[in-house]
Amino acid sequence: MTTPSRSLPVHAPMHQFASADRHLLIGGLPLERLAARVGSTPFYAYDRTLLRSRVVELRAALPASIKLHFAMKANPMPALVGFMAGLVDGIDVASAGELKIALDTGANPHEISFAGPGKRDVELRQAVAAGVLINLESFREVAILANISAELALPARVAVRVNPDFELKGSGMKMGGGPKQFGVDAELVPELLSAIGKTCLQFEGFHLFAGSQNLKAESICEAQQKSYELALRLAAYAPSPVRFLNLGGGFGIPYFPGEQRLDLTTIGDNLAQLATRAAVEMPEAELVIELGRYLVGEAGIYVTQVVDRKVSRGQIYLVVDGGLNHHLSASGNFGQVIRKNYPVAIGNRMDCEQKESVSVVGPLCTPLDLLADKMDLSVAQPGDLVVIFQSGAYGASASPQRFLGHPEVIEVLV
Ligand SMILES: *Cc1c(COP(=O)(O)O)cnc(C)c1O
Repeated sequence: MTTPSRSLPVHAPMHQFASADRHLLIGGLPLERLAARVGSTPFYAYDRTLLRSRVVELRAALPASIKLHFAMKANPMPALVGFMAGLVDGIDVASAGELKIALDTGANPHEISFAGPGKRDVELRQAVAAGVLINLESFREVAILANISAELALPARVAVRVNPDFELKGSGMKMGGGPKQFGVDAELVPELLSAIGKTCLQFEGFHLFAGSQNLKAESICEAQQKSYELALRLAAYAPSPVRFLNLGGGFGIPYFPGEQRLDLTTIGDNLAQLATRAAVEMPEAELVIELGRYLVGEAGIYVTQVVDRKVSRGQIYLVVDGGLNHHLSASGNFGQVIRKNYPVAIGNRMDCEQKESVSVVGPLCTPLDLLADKMDLSVAQPGDLVVIFQSGAYGASASPQRFLGHPEVIEVLV
């Protein structure tokens, strides 16, 4: 009996970047020219045109009434946040540090929201003074905000972040359902709402975030539907009508072999239905989705130069000048259970016929510093530029840059 030949899963094509004369183009610039402009490697480069076109595609797929927020923890580079602020309807921050960057962009404070467990008293005070929406994550925050509001004579604008009674199926990181440090358990929310009603806090609505990096449109739709239903049930206990309903996001991008881009049509149709219902059931509510990775991840690359080429017992190693200290996610040490390769290319030798199986390793003294494990790449030599795609989210700011004392990574917006 013969078994049908099954081809190995491959990476989704990185067709968002063109190439010319064997050079990858970023923001229209050939990679070596960009490297010369930056002055040294390693660096992250984010492409403005791709950032903009991603937002345009999303707007085309989603109903016009849905507000699009950028969760800036995915990429807090100030120039990028400033650029995104001009494209989206709001910015979601998760610390006073991020709040400063968001305010510095000139974004309207009314369109900034602040979520996260363990907000310190001073951070809450800064947020009230700024006039941003605070997503409450505990009873403690209600008490503290009541005091701050009285002291500043400025009622805090609040929404309740709900830890739902369901999980986002198929998401890379679950951030809702079961016991969680995020939000307030759905069953305790009526009590919290009644506590809010006894203060001067200005109640605005609900925030639900079930999880991250989901590539299954059906699971995202299901989570959004359940989030909507839950918010509708909880609205009955609210001290005032719901004006803001953040249904989360969790839209994923393809990182690993076999993964495919998300189907936006299904999600758009589902949100259109919810928007129609909301117009009747919560007429004052603005529906929001908040996305991080999906907005910026595919628009960024990490570029690192080959320092050495070594052969160890038959295995070729390209040793490059940056590693997990700059790009923890690509090394597999940020949320992956089994390490898999990101899409990688030799950016100054695109489409070369001659390929070989190599491992790309960083300069750190740990075997964890692996950026590509036995991948077929164009034959490369010291001086060549290794590119890691899908690197616009959870890169520089999510990596242990001080580990082993190498230089910090540069970030450019092109
Ligand atoms: C991290 C986070 C996001 C962004 O998640 P992505 O997977 O990058 O889209 C959105 N909302 C909240 C509350 C988060 O914590």
